[in-house]
Amino acid sequence: MMNSKQVIEKIKEENISFVDFWFVDIFGELHCMGMPSYSLSEDDFNDGLEKLDASSILGFKSVNKSDMILKPDPSTFRILPPDYDPSRKNARIFCDLYEGNRAEETRFNRDSRGITAKAKGKLKEFGLTHSMWGPEIEFFVFDAINIYPSPYGATHSYGGSGYSIESKESPWAKGNASTAIDLKEGYYPSQPKDTLGGLRKDICDDLYRYFGIQVEAEHHEVATSGQSEINFKYGEMTEIADAVVTIKNVVKVKAKKRNKVATFMSKPIFGDNASAMHTHQSIWNNDTNRMYDPNDSVAQLSQEGRYYIGGLLDHASALCAITNPTTNSYKRLVPNFEAPVNVCWGLGNRSAAIRVPMYLKNREKSKRIEYRVPDPTANIYLLEAALLLAGLDGIKNKKDPGDHVEENVYKLSAEKKRELNIGSLPTSLKGALDAFQSDMKFLEDVFTKDFLDAYTELKYKEYHAFAQTPTAWEVSMYTDA
Ligand code: GLN
Ligand code: MG
Ligand code: MG
Ligand code: MG
Repeated sequence: MMNSKQVIEKIKEENISFVDFWFVDIFGELHCMGMPSYSLSEDDFNDGLEKLDASSILGFKSVNKSDMILKPDPSTFRILPPDYDPSRKNARIFCDLYEGNRAEETRFNRDSRGITAKAKGKLKEFGLTHSMWGPEIEFFVFDAINIYPSPYGATHSYGGSGYSIESKESPWAKGNASTAIDLKEGYYPSQPKDTLGGLRKDICDDLYRYFGIQVEAEHHEVATSGQSEINFKYGEMTEIADAVVTIKNVVKVKAKKRNKVATFMSKPIFGDNASAMHTHQSIWNNDTNRMYDPNDSVAQLSQEGRYYIGGLLDHASALCAITNPTTNSYKRLVPNFEAPVNVCWGLGNRSAAIRVPMYLKNREKSKRIEYRVPDPTANIYLLEAALLLAGLDGIKNKKDPGDHVEENVYKLSAEKKRELNIGSLPTSLKGALDAFQSDMKFLEDVFTKDFLDAYTELKYKEYHAFAQTPTAWEVSMYTDA
């Protein structure tokens, strides 16, 4: 962890040519401003960098009120891997966003990193010092040729292979490129079936060497050739959110170097597993894991841990607007692909929205809950903040999550679900946004009403554009109607 003085020294010592200043928009998309290192001074860290025209970034600001200040966070200084720019040695620094002028500035309320920081401030009220986060990162890597929005009813063909709107067959099933692994047959294969091990290892090497991100495992995931997972060591909120943004970017950059396309969209392939971002979390007071209770015979889970789960389940539908923020996200939340559709918790149950892992190396240290709903299109800063606030709301209002469910919830009848009081997650972005609008009070304090309204408005716009777009599937389905 460096301060501004040490960063300036390091830049000289390492002969860094440029510094890339990183920040994300309200959707979690990474933006970057480069600056030759000779132009950077220690004062810039306190005063902030030249104003940015925030009106050109969707969701940030209107044209008449568009000045924004970038404040580099020196603790996030890292030298970038050579794949970012083979011609010179550059570094990156994450920035916090402020508005106003340099004499009188306030944290920009639409700065995602700022929202995470503000959410952390809530912990004190609950006698907590920090929270720990461990998102699992899943994504697809395709040969560029394979990335196509619909496996059905393509309106043009690739390289003469000629599947057309009459064809009901998936291009991935046609031996086009990477078809070594069948749909849902990709869990932990070895070479030569898994052709992506080398790329993943290259990614992991860079993550550790350049960014200090400690990877715990990499493997091919359940879906057909291309789905991958990288797990890394858990940590505190902001540090982990920065790491997720970094990992997603490194994955995309390294894939592109190999002429491949990495995507974090959740469900690129019909009939196959989708990508998730299961998020493990625990709450702490110094060295005490407040989710742990050795005397609880069911799950070694504390009463507070149960209430935290109660809060997450109670707000699950509204949370989807943040945890599953794209129209594509809802193509994942369907039965039989290990993705949750029901609002309940379990121990080993992967069909439930929350799982409490039971086989732990060190029970006290590792006791946590796994929220299985999110997918990797979520803005990780907002996601962590919203999940924490939902959990804390559960503790504050003593929300009972009910009994844990160990049955396959995909198979439960509607009657049984009613009996067990198990609700369903939204089935569309619209459903999530409707739920969000009627249940966002628990976020207002930290997120601000202005942010929530702006976010919701843009997301409804996205949904309506999607809903009004005839798809290749519809053309295929209804041409003869
Ligand atoms: N990718 C799956 C999901 O959509 C989960 C599969 C797994 O991680 N074992 O949640
Ligand atoms: Mg996993
Ligand atoms: Mg997985
Ligand atoms: Mg998991």
